[in-house]
Amino acid sequence: LEGRDRALILVVDDQLFMRRSATDWLEEAGFAVETADDGAQGLLAFQRVHPDLVLLDVVMPVMDGFAACSALRHLPEGRHVPILMMTGLDDARSIQDAYRAGATDFIHKPINGLVLGYRVRYMLRAARTAERLRRSEARLANAQRMANLGHWELDPDQDAWTGSEQLEQILGSRPSTWSAFLACIHPEDRLWVGNELDRSLNDRKRRNADFRVIRGDGTERVVHQEIEVAAPSDGRPPQVSGAVLDITDLRRAQEQVRYLAYYDGLTGLPNRRFAVDRLRLLTARARRLGGWIATLLVGVDHFKRINDTMGHAAGDELLQELAGRLLRCLGQSAAAEGVPPQAAKFDPFVGRFGGDELVVFLSDVGRVEDAARVARRIVRALRKPFAIENREVFVTASIGISLFPFDGSDPELLLRNAASAMAHAKAKGLTSYEFYTVTMNDATRSDFLLESNLRKAVERGEFTLHFQPQMDLASGQIVGAEALIRWDSPELGRVMPLEFIPLAEETGLIFPIGDWVLRTACTQAMAWRDTGLPPLRMAVNVSARQFSKDGFTQTIARALKHTGLDPTCLDSELTESTVMEDVDSAILSLREMKAMGLKVSVDDFGTGYSSLSYLRRFPLDALKIDRSFLEGLPENAEHVAITSAIIAMAKTLNLRVIAEGVESREQLAFLRMKGCDEAQGNFLSFALPADEFVHLVRDTWNASAWC
Ligand code: C2E
Ligand code: MG
Ligand code: MG
Repeated sequence: LEGRDRALILVVDDQLFMRRSATDWLEEAGFAVETADDGAQGLLAFQRVHPDLVLLDVVMPVMDGFAACSALRHLPEGRHVPILMMTGLDDARSIQDAYRAGATDFIHKPINGLVLGYRVRYMLRAARTAERLRRSEARLANAQRMANLGHWELDPDQDAWTGSEQLEQILGSRPSTWSAFLACIHPEDRLWVGNELDRSLNDRKRRNADFRVIRGDGTERVVHQEIEVAAPSDGRPPQVSGAVLDITDLRRAQEQVRYLAYYDGLTGLPNRRFAVDRLRLLTARARRLGGWIATLLVGVDHFKRINDTMGHAAGDELLQELAGRLLRCLGQSAAAEGVPPQAAKFDPFVGRFGGDELVVFLSDVGRVEDAARVARRIVRALRKPFAIENREVFVTASIGISLFPFDGSDPELLLRNAASAMAHAKAKGLTSYEFYTVTMNDATRSDFLLESNLRKAVERGEFTLHFQPQMDLASGQIVGAEALIRWDSPELGRVMPLEFIPLAEETGLIFPIGDWVLRTACTQAMAWRDTGLPPLRMAVNVSARQFSKDGFTQTIARALKHTGLDPTCLDSELTESTVMEDVDSAILSLREMKAMGLKVSVDDFGTGYSSLSYLRRFPLDALKIDRSFLEGLPENAEHVAITSAIIAMAKTLNLRVIAEGVESREQLAFLRMKGCDEAQGNFLSFALPADEFVHLVRDTWNASAWC
């Protein structure tokens, strides 16, 4: 109705008498009327006044009704306008021609005025309904296009499969049977996707799966599919419907995050983070199955001199060559002994540990001599000159070796000891390798001291909580606090969590400590609320052992009940590895927590191995970007790429994203620009005792924004 209060009807007829009577009848029925004398005039009038309906005569000079009708249909605004043709000729032929030309309906001459009014009103109503439907379909299609979401329906009895337009876009083809749809799926995934349907038809359960499709043009996409079987109660056969989401870009972003986070951009080798993770895995396995693990830290001697004299590009090239040679020498070594590489006794892991340091792990080492032999092989391989920028460059390397379980039980210690062995080797000044010897190692003794004090600390109540504010980047307001534990020991002074939480976890002391933290944090949040602070989210760190202990959710429930805190104000921070340890039971616990109304965040995100398909299954609220990725922002290109990818990924997954460890204005500006939701870090504020935290919130509250 284009904003008119009366519908406008365009009457096109060459006879003046007819135009007049039609005008009278229609105005009588409450419509506004425009007229035109022939088809050509009618077309012009149509474009000028945009009528809601056209009443069109068939026999006219200049341009007859059929021609005018099909011309109208070719105008963009004329595609859906209702056209009522006055046929006058009472024969089947002209009725057929009218429809063929695109008429909506026809009416015979001579015309009854009353009938015309009703007919027009009815057609207008039908047109409006059709228009609404078209709009809503367009909206749906648009939403699906934006979400890259397609859907399909299957009538299994008829093998009739229909897919939406967007799904055809995703598939790059238009199948019409179930088997034709299956044919679009990657051959390796096809069989089980088919089986999933059968299983759903059997048990009527909703299922989802991620699989690959091969498009018509041969390219591959990754999709997520949900299928549902609807069984009508009237005994008709079941109908299956599926929703298909194109997650290729999301997958790619995740792979990119993983690559950037776990590989060294220069050499393509696994980086330090990856190496530490791997060593953790290897030691855990060796603890279960027995066996030794050798850690070889390979340092290039005087690498700085090469950088200084030949330039950094030459230094980079040397490192790449070196990495390649190390890989070859370890790979070839197995082949040279007549063993196929995959069956080799050693499965060497090679990574880049730092600037000029590479690391090699050998698992299943049976004798000390095995590790020594590999070290000698490396030394030999590096002895040959490198061709860098058309020059021969000679390098020597020093290797430090530590052995699990003798030189340490955890990766950090093994690496540290390998490093000190390497320093020894370097000090000798020859290309050589050294084993770590357990001499000055009093780490175990100090652990013991720490433990006995920690036990007492729980009883004596030597802990306090500090609170670090979390700022909403859009509003600049403080919206939450992370509770961070501090231990003030009379014997040891202030001890930071990283020094005692691992030990607390090992000894089980984390349970009383964790309970204390939870209760104290909830009590504090309530106390703040009572003094009239705006509602703040209270984030509490939950360690893996706490989370996996039976009854953890009840512990939280009790703390909430005891203190009266609103569950939506409590945010549990779990690390990726905590939730990935036992995915299925983690999902159950998380669901319980969500059902209680709690918030759940993934802490130190990017440092673990969580796979995207799990991330999507976990009911989460937020990702906390690990602070190591913020270093050097916005200059460090690698970190720019990682943080951007994590933020983009969080958006796609509909999660809040918060950056921790913000130490500078530049980092803050960068995060804001990338659309990160929240920030936390020393640039904004250190973790503060509760009373100072209150002052900070009060002060910033009065200012319109904080930073
Ligand atoms: P987290 O959960 O990742 O906490 C953030 C850590 O980063 C805190 O260290 C915080 O003080 C520090 N931090 C914040 N902003 C900056 C910054 O701008 N620069 C730098 N360099 N550091 C910043 P903190 O307090 O030493 O805690 C370390 C870790 O100990 C925490 O890491 C958390 O995993 C654990 N932790 C702390 N309190 C508890 C607790 O109550 N229970 C458990 N299970 N773990 C806790
Ligand atoms: Mg945390
Ligand atoms: Mg963290």
